[in-house]
Amino acid sequence: MLDVKNLTVGFPVRNRGEKAMLMAVNDVSLTLNKGDALGLVGESGSGKSTIGRTILHLNPSTSGHIALDGEEITRLSAAGERALRKRAQMIFQDPHSALNPRMTILRSVAEPLVLHTRLRGSALREKVGELLETVGLQKQFLYRYPHELSGGQKQRVCIARAMALNPELLVLDEPTSALDVSVQAQILEFLKSIQQQKSLTYLFISHNLAVVRYMCNRVAVMYLGKIVEQGPTEEVFKAPRHPYTKALLEAVPLPEAGQSRRTAPLGGDIPSPLNPPTGCAFHTRCDKAIAGKCDRVPPPEVDFGHGHVASCFLGVEGQGTTGEKIRELA
Ligand code: SF4
Repeated sequence: MLDVKNLTVGFPVRNRGEKAMLMAVNDVSLTLNKGDALGLVGESGSGKSTIGRTILHLNPSTSGHIALDGEEITRLSAAGERALRKRAQMIFQDPHSALNPRMTILRSVAEPLVLHTRLRGSALREKVGELLETVGLQKQFLYRYPHELSGGQKQRVCIARAMALNPELLVLDEPTSALDVSVQAQILEFLKSIQQQKSLTYLFISHNLAVVRYMCNRVAVMYLGKIVEQGPTEEVFKAPRHPYTKALLEAVPLPEAGQSRRTAPLGGDIPSPLNPPTGCAFHTRCDKAIAGKCDRVPPPEVDFGHGHVASCFLGVEGQGTTGEKIRELA
């Protein structure tokens, strides 16, 4: 349904007074079938959100191709972008800033319907009321303002607005991370149930591996603008092939009482995309880096079957893995 090929997104910036290009996304390819939920994970600054925003034309791409149902959508006219809004919508991290504080819930949810349909008056109100009911809110919320709602209720309103035009694809950018922990589970449960009921396709952006494991049938791991590993969620969690994926999984806290959070084995910070390392971008933090190779040559993409691929020389040469520990955690 969604086919992204060799997508690159650069932003012109000034670096120490000089013009420079910040490569937020670098040669990324991914595919989503109808009904897939693909989790995009990685640290802050890895380019996850930029991919989602670029697919929805909220920022421009530098090169590469994006196709929706076989139709090229990389470059669109204003009319083409309007048509795309009917088919693909985004749900943002912070529902507090996603809603206009001066607009009633009725006006906020009605906005896309007014722009894209002929519904008006009582028919419009009726439709917005139905949408609110779909997300578990009663019609009495129609005339309330955002400040009268809790964080979870606001995110439900955002979901209702995103669903108003019956989109096929939803890009969800950390949709629960700004909410109280007690509300997160309800919203995730709800997002999962509407995905199944309506056969929606999700691109689910998150830094939370447990959430991605619960929500997504496939996962792609990003590091410094590139996908370093992707595949079926259970397979990637049980047998991660890339040292970065393993490091992320090692950092997941253990649920048992009395166990302290594991120290992330990942040292240092993600390098600046303005000056990315040569060879494998992860070599500056990788404890398995092969001197003279990983720092010079970009690693090949190795196919482990069932759509599970990882970009690392260890996949080619046979892995000395920390697999048992990872399997325990997974
Ligand atoms: Fe580590 Fe080398 Fe694999 Fe990169 S290619 S993840 S540096 S072992």
